[in-house]
Parts: sequence; structure tokens; C-alpha cells
Amino acid sequence: MVEKVAELGGSSQSTTVVVIGAGPAGLTVANLLRCCGIDCVVLERRSREYVAQRQRAGIVETRAVRMFDSWGLADRVLGGVPYDGILEFRVDGETHLVSDSDGSEGPAARLCPQQILVQRLTANYLAEGGDLRFEVADVSLDGLTTDRPVVRYRAADGVLHTITCSFVAGCDGDHGISRTAVPDGVLTAHAFDHGISWLTVLADSPPPAHPLFAVSPQGFAAHFPRGPHTSRYYLQCPPDDQPDAWPDTRVWDALRSRLADPALVSGPITDREMFRLRSLVHEPMQYGRLFLVGDAAHIISPMGGKGMNLALYDADIFARAVRDFVRDRDDTALRAYSQRALRRVWNDQEFSHWLTRALHDAGDATGSGSYLRGVARARLDRLFTSPTAARGFAEIMTGVDLG
Ligand SMILES: Cc1cc2nc3c(=O)[nH]c(=O)nc-3n(C[C@H](O)[C@H](O)[C@H](O)COP(=O)(O)OP(=O)(O)OC[C@H]3O[C@@H](n4cnc5c(N)ncnc54)[C@H](O)[C@@H]3O)c2cc1C
Repeated sequence: MVEKVAELGGSSQSTTVVVIGAGPAGLTVANLLRCCGIDCVVLERRSREYVAQRQRAGIVETRAVRMFDSWGLADRVLGGVPYDGILEFRVDGETHLVSDSDGSEGPAARLCPQQILVQRLTANYLAEGGDLRFEVADVSLDGLTTDRPVVRYRAADGVLHTITCSFVAGCDGDHGISRTAVPDGVLTAHAFDHGISWLTVLADSPPPAHPLFAVSPQGFAAHFPRGPHTSRYYLQCPPDDQPDAWPDTRVWDALRSRLADPALVSGPITDREMFRLRSLVHEPMQYGRLFLVGDAAHIISPMGGKGMNLALYDADIFARAVRDFVRDRDDTALRAYSQRALRRVWNDQEFSHWLTRALHDAGDATGSGSYLRGVARARLDRLFTSPTAARGFAEIMTGVDLG
């Protein structure tokens, strides 16, 4: 229940949880709390249209599909189509198909682009009467170590508002304000720069039959489905390369060469971005009544498709912990939030690091030398030939490895 009191021309309100950010993490927290009948207010600095179009991840992994299913939300919030669980690795033009289905019972991963998930989470939350405020500015947090933190923000019409709450969910990504509200010295940042950049483009071009990773002497490339007529491509670049150095013709020539597919059908490029592969974990993921969820707490190299899925995992354990507290006055799960979330975060960091090294070193385009090239090719060979190695890989890809 949110009660409003006039104050300084704005309003002062009270709720149980204030969620900062309406990305996959914040919207999942909000929907799960709604399922438990727990009040929350979501504050998002961008417009609804902007958030709904932001294209990034493409697969909701098996564990996350089952998580939504366990809350009775899977049919409402998961769009896209079931995924056949086959990945293609193309090494110097030779195809190796690897299953990332672990064979366990229950619903499996879905090809559900991030923007579709965000659109559906938004629609479901609003349809259930949820409170979601777009285009807010100047969000600030106070009293995080008290049992009634205070969140202030400026609404789209310029009016200042104050919300008192029991918990703050910091779901505002790597560049948000939540983490900066934590005093210096409380969090430890574990950062790693992979020394690799990627150019990524979205294009209106036919998706591949299976998500495709390619190793070649010219460097790593990948081709992933993002809808019936849309693809996302990745190209490894020198660490300090610039997007201007990649006109469309160079992008398509490089993709045809590295994917060993001279007939690759091109299409209009609708978005392009160059970014450095980096990984970052903040520990702990909690300060007083502030809980960091998703990218606000950790960034992971896109290799392995874990970033959004980790955000969904954090959201699930945070929402269950708040439910225990509100329903039973039991704070055990809240106190264990950081430790529990970080176990999976480090597990997936290890996997992503392993896959990043294997697929870049195997092409030997990073200057890492012939020794690391041999090691990386041995790793891939084991994955392609050992059923046990393939099974372990599938368990981590599906996210069911840690239960
Ligand atoms: C090119 C690319 C490809 C990717 N591919 C994959 C993939 O294949 N698989 C995968 O699982 N992951 C992938 N990721 C990672 C994934 O997109 C992120 O991990 C995911 O978006 C994290 O969700 P989040 O809700 O934690 O953060 P975000 O999506 O960053 O959402 C944070 C929200 O908070 C809002 N916000 C920020 N500051 C404020 C503020 N001060 N006040 C209010 N609101 C604020 C932002 O506007 C945003 O809406 C990819 C990322 C990139 C960049």
C-alpha cells in the first residue's frame, strides 16, 4: 500500500521495496514481489519506449525459464520460441555441433530476446496494478543502514518526491546510482580486462540455424538469432579499435571470411557498438537495506550468454528473501543474499572466462602465441569428443549445474 502525503509541493510516500531501474533485474524483482502481494515502486530514468527497444541478450536459459515457471509467470513473461539446445562451433570452417541441453526434466531454454522479455515483464507488472515510474531523475538514497531507507527523485514533471521503504533493490546496471550510495571501502571490486574488443552489429538478416561461434586465423566471430529476421553478429577486434574503422562492407567481408560462409546473406545494419570485454564483481552485493541486483553488482563477458540470466537469478533470490521477511519476519535469506548470489556469479564468471579464452586463443589472433593456441584447441577438442565434457558444458550453459 502506498500512502501519499503532501510535502514541499511533491509527495512523501511509503512502500515496502523501492526498485531502482527497469531492466531485466528490476522488472523481474517487481513482478515476483507482485506475485507475493508485496508493495513496490519501480523508478526508471529512461522512457518506456527506450527501455522496451534495448536489444542485448537473446536466450533465457533453462534455469531462468524454470524460475519463471515456478512463480506461475512463464507463459505471461516469456516470448520467443523454444530453443533446440544445439550450438555450432565452426573451427577453421569445420562444423562441430554441441548440445547444451542437459537432458533434465522440465521446461527448457527459450530464444527470447531481452527486449521482448522486458516488454512482457513491463506489460504484466502494469496489468497487475504495479507502480512503475519512467523518466525519473536525480535519484538519491539515504538511511540505508536504518530500517526505513529514504529514496528521493525528481519526476518527469520536475516535482521532487520522497519514498520511505523497508528495502531498496539497486537494479540500475553498472552505471547507476545505487552502488555509488555505498560508502567507500565497503565493497571490493574484482575487475578483469580480457584485452579484447568486440564489434557487435544487429542486422535485418537471416538468423543462423543454431547459435554459431567461429574460430579462424583472422579472429573470433559469432552469429546469433535475435528474431525470425534478425541477427546479432560479433567480431573480435584489436583492443583499441574504433567503430569508424568498420564500414558495412568490411563488416560483411570479415564475417564471411571468419564464419567460413561466402554465401552469408547481409542486410541493413540497425545498430552497432564496440566494447571491451571486461568482467567485474562487487562483493558483497548488499549494504544495510540496499541489495544490488544484476549488472549493478557484476558485469560478465558476453561469452556464454550469462549476464541477463545472472540478473534474473539475483532477482529470484532477492524476491524470495523479501517474501520470507514480510510473511514470516525471517531475515535468514536476506542476510544470506550476497553469499548465495555470489556463488553463481563466480561459477558463471569462471565459465565465461574459460570460453572466452578457448575461443579467442584457438584462433591465435590475440598475440597470445602458439602455446596458448594449442591449449585452447585441446580444450575445444575435449568438448567436441568427450560426452562427459559435453555434459558438464551443457549443465553450465543451462544454468542447472548449481541447482
Ligand atoms: C552487446 C551486449 C550483448 C549482450 N548479450 C547477452 C547475452 O547474449 N546473454 C545474456 O545473458 N546477457 C547479455 N548481455 C548482458 C545483459 O544485457 C545484461 O546483463 C542485462 O541487461 C542486465 O540487466 P540489469 O537489469 O541488471 O541491467 P540493465 O539492463 O542495465 O538495466 C538497468 C536499468 O536501470 C536504469 N537506470 C540506470 N541508472 C538509473 C538511475 N540513476 N535511476 C533510475 N534508473 C536507472 C537503466 O536505464 C536501465 O533501464 C549483453 C550485453 C551487451 C552490452
